Amino acid sequence: MTSRVAVVTGSNKGIGFSIVRALCKQFDGDVYLTARDEERGKKAVEDLEEEGLHPKFHQLDITNQKSIDNLQKYLKDKYGGLDVLVNNASIAYKVKDVTPFAEQAKYTIACNFTGTLDVCKALLPLIKPHGRVVNVASGSGTRALDKMSSERASKFKALDLTETELVSLLEDFVNAASDGTHTEKGYPNSAYGTSKAGVIVLTGIQARDLKNDPREDILINACCPGHVQTDMSSHQGTKTPDEGAETPVYLALLPPNAGQPQGEMLSDKKIVKW
Ligand code: NDP
Repeated sequence: MTSRVAVVTGSNKGIGFSIVRALCKQFDGDVYLTARDEERGKKAVEDLEEEGLHPKFHQLDITNQKSIDNLQKYLKDKYGGLDVLVNNASIAYKVKDVTPFAEQAKYTIACNFTGTLDVCKALLPLIKPHGRVVNVASGSGTRALDKMSSERASKFKALDLTETELVSLLEDFVNAASDGTHTEKGYPNSAYGTSKAGVIVLTGIQARDLKNDPREDILINACCPGHVQTDMSSHQGTKTPDEGAETPVYLALLPPNAGQPQGEMLSDKKIVKW
């Protein structure tokens, strides 16, 4: 019998690295630390080896379809599927970054939303019964939904919104950002927040779509790790990376037939309404 397998995206540092560390200790199976940069990834694996842990490595750039396809094929051939997927990889421009907002919007949505979606499109079909999927979002995403005009928010929150329609909404945000009309059109003035709002809404759609899926007991949820001391937060957070990993790991290890949460957004292991 092949062993069970877990994959964590963007895990050469920060919260992703801590998620791999925790899964190596708690998950019964192979744990893949993935990174867009092979050298940084392998160095991270060595660091965990020094702690007596044994993650495996696979390259993955979530913005590169060929890289995603390579991982998909590898998992299919070696394991015949996937048991746990943690979509953690993301980027965030610093507040003081002078890159024009149009560009920030384009690259942030491309990585955090579209990259996550593309990984899901390739890997969700491989998820085995009792599999768990965690989309690491952010409280910035729920705040972005709050800051949208009511008309715009109602589009994101529509109960029958499809994945294709959500993709169009994010494309519309990027286009509006490029001509400076995004706030006029009811979007928040945050590329990162909007990308994470997209991930939260996507999670709900994916859970709804799973209702018609013959595979039993697959749970997919989004979460906020909290304000965590990593490069992304310029080490300003209140939590250590290991503490930030707690909610994502809790969701990744929900016991068989737990039934819920499903399609929710969680913070500190509790459901957040949005
Ligand atoms: P870091 O910036 O420390 O780490 C981000 C990781 O994502 C790095 O490994 C980075 O790789 C990787 N990454 C970026 N782009 C890609 C890509 N295209 N393909 C693959 N990997 C990529 O961030 P955190 O650890 O703080 O963040 C982890 C998650 O938690 C993110 O989703 C973030 O949005 C979320 N979050 C974090 C908060 C915080 O306070 N830190 C608060 C709320 C949410 P590389 O080293 O190559 O750049």
